[in-house]
Amino acid sequence: MTLSETIPIFASYFIFEFLFMKKIVVALDGNSGCGKSSTAKVLARKLKFIYIDTGAMYRAVTLFFLKNHIDLKNDLDVEQALKEIDISFQYNMESGKNETFLNGKNVEREIRKMEVSNLVSPVSEISRVRRKLVEQQRRLGEGNSVVMDGRDIGTVVFPNADLKIFMTAELEVRAFRRQKELKEQGTLVELQDVIDNLKKRDEIDSSRDDSPLKKADDAHVIDTSKLTFDEQVDQILDLIHEKIGIA
Ligand code: C5P
Repeated sequence: MTLSETIPIFASYFIFEFLFMKKIVVALDGNSGCGKSSTAKVLARKLKFIYIDTGAMYRAVTLFFLKNHIDLKNDLDVEQALKEIDISFQYNMESGKNETFLNGKNVEREIRKMEVSNLVSPVSEISRVRRKLVEQQRRLGEGNSVVMDGRDIGTVVFPNADLKIFMTAELEVRAFRRQKELKEQGTLVELQDVIDNLKKRDEIDSSRDDSPLKKADDAHVIDTSKLTFDEQVDQILDLIHEKIGIA
């Protein structure tokens, strides 16, 4: 067999391996309320990847802490509580969404409430909490092609992710979108309360010692302030196409 005959065989083997064997990780990080989760969900569906909402995991821990009156400053209480927490996701065929379960109970709606949003960043600052969740996030990503969204996915959870996106948008735009989302779920919240919550969370998330929210050096920045939802999804799909050759 000549060299020119063998090259195409090798090339097709590598393309096959890349598409069908290699597991791809897309890391989507960014500020609170800039549409990461909705975008990640659609990307995962289009790419037939698994979607993992890491914010939901921090929210589920927060809900447990709230319900059980856990003192965030008491290390032993926190440690014990973490042992009692089991978080899982289940796909709901009707809504077409992955839903979050805390100790076997569906908490998807409860974890989106403002009382959880107001405490989730202080809870996420606790290193013990992060260690437990990061370990689970890595396990969920193992052996699967995933789109994972959060704050530290491209920097800490999967520093070797195949594609890293850092999403951002102007504060007022994010607050307006989040308020609308909450309204659609039946919760009426003042715009100013949403602004205050997003601002506070960004401050705590970016300044904490453990795994702060920051752009990975090799992440692509997408500012969604002036983009429609479809435009932001398409921009990322283009990047995936360019970088990985699929989509
Ligand atoms: O993504 P979402 O807004 O639901 O995240 C809720 C909170 O969880 C964030 O404000 C942040 O404090 C925390 N979080 C985190 N690391 C992640 C995902 C979320 O600290 N990977």
